[in-house]
Amino acid sequence: MPSIDEFGLIARLFAPLAQSHAGAQSLRDDCAYIDGPDGMAWALSTDALVAGVHFLPDDPPDLIARKLVRVNLSDLASSGARPRFLLLACCFPRSSGAAWLEAFAAGLAADCQSFGLALIGGDTVATPGPLTLAATALGDLPAGQALLRGNARAGDDLWVSGTIGDAAFGLEVALGQAPEQPELLERYRLPRPRLELGMALRGLAHACMDVSDGLMGDLGHIAAASGLAAELWAEMVPLSAAVRARMGADGLEKAVTGGDDYELLFTAPAARRQDLAALERSLDLRLTRIGRMMPAEGPDQPVRLLDGEGRPLAPPRPGYRHF
Ligand code: ADP
Ligand code: MG
Repeated sequence: MPSIDEFGLIARLFAPLAQSHAGAQSLRDDCAYIDGPDGMAWALSTDALVAGVHFLPDDPPDLIARKLVRVNLSDLASSGARPRFLLLACCFPRSSGAAWLEAFAAGLAADCQSFGLALIGGDTVATPGPLTLAATALGDLPAGQALLRGNARAGDDLWVSGTIGDAAFGLEVALGQAPEQPELLERYRLPRPRLELGMALRGLAHACMDVSDGLMGDLGHIAAASGLAAELWAEMVPLSAAVRARMGADGLEKAVTGGDDYELLFTAPAARRQDLAALERSLDLRLTRIGRMMPAEGPDQPVRLLDGEGRPLAPPRPGYRHF
């Protein structure tokens, strides 16, 4: 186990290799960007999924394939890009049977079709280890319009789409630690990338990212990349009825630190509140103002969780870290 966390490791070992390309965003964004012809740009994102880490080994194969596609598309959504192409690397255990592989491919086909993606390459190998998958998604958008983590401004409202915490509670269902609750389980197994929202936020939001590793920790990435601090209002965090029904004493902490939400977290000036209300109606997707961005006062605690009276709550443990 390395002595630095995942993000320290990326910053120290890999970010120096990204310096020659400004569109790499110093490896601090959800996507990398490459300018293309005719005023367009490519947004690119790669994500890996490992059995036992990101899904359970006996999850249905079609849903594993679709989760792989969707976690990548969620990064494109956070940049405001439209999905176009997919590259796929599969490390299949030798024991994978034909029926399993066919169901996997059927799930892949369903999502490529529904999201307008063409599969254009990849690699297929056998592994003695757990099922390991990686996909790279390419999307397009108008050059210069990508929504970046680092563009938040002091005074911006902080918004989030949908509801938070469903997948964290869904994982408990998947692990058999909580009673069956299909809608929570589905939120864990089958993320819904907020692509329409991402594209609609171009020119409206200042900063944006997708929430994959827990709301609190991911908000820390927007704050750090923007050189700001953030306030998160605990009572405003949108929770589904299913999550509320499940909430024990540690419910809010689980909701704001649990992973796999794949909602969009974004900042926008107060002057755009009416536009966002209109967008919420036209997309039929809940958009909730959950805090604000402020000037950074120091290096410590860039994100403060506040109760309904504005009093600081004890900071929950950080979001999911691989290292
Ligand atoms: P996300 O959750 O949005 O997929 P991550 O937290 O996984 O993003 O990664 C943060 C940033 O670090 C991204 O810009 C990603 O491309 C970059 N990154 C992560 N691992 C590596 C790596 N091994 N090599 C180069 N860049 C990496
Ligand atoms: Mg992301």
